[in-house]
Amino acid sequence: DPRLQAISNAIRVVPHFPKQGIMFQDITTLLLDHKAFKHTVDIFVERYKDMDISLVAGVEARGFMFGPSIALAIGAKFVPLRKPKKLPGEVIAEAYELEYGRDCLEMHVGAVEAGERAIVIDDLVATGGTLSAAIRLLERVGAQVVECGCVIGLREVKGQLRLNGKPLYILVEPR
Ligand code: IMP
Repeated sequence: DPRLQAISNAIRVVPHFPKQGIMFQDITTLLLDHKAFKHTVDIFVERYKDMDISLVAGVEARGFMFGPSIALAIGAKFVPLRKPKKLPGEVIAEAYELEYGRDCLEMHVGAVEAGERAIVIDDLVATGGTLSAAIRLLERVGAQVVECGCVIGLREVKGQLRLNGKPLYILVEPR
């Protein structure tokens, strides 16, 4: 797909952010390039539009930049999965391991109904820990997670990593 090269070209790498040694994949430059941004959303929409998806879950914060556009285009609801203490209503929470320490995602109770078919969207998958927490949240309320979709993923995990048995769909590798 020739669109993938344009997407990859639009991602900026920022060395040593947020700390020494990390090559940060910055998708804000992808958002500045409306053709590449549209290609990104279009590819996800083409994949998911006929899969009977009723729910797109986006992971804070960069999953919020792609998820809602995909949800609107495929006729699904959008559910934000947020960092602790951001959502005002009753929540359920799932902790996950980071390279250093732990973090947590929360989801509003009542946002998701049992039996819904869901996809989870984020900008980048590294270890898969974040997506695993997202999957656990959705499965706890009886949703079926059909797939996780990320713009960027490592070659080693591309097409083969399974998150709690869920397939992962990745557009490009880190630059
Ligand atoms: P994982 O949980 O190890 O798979 O890490 C994925 C999470 O870390 C996602 O929510 C990403 O947004 C974030 N992340 C890690 N590295 C990068 C990066 O280089 N660019 C953007 N986000 C990143």
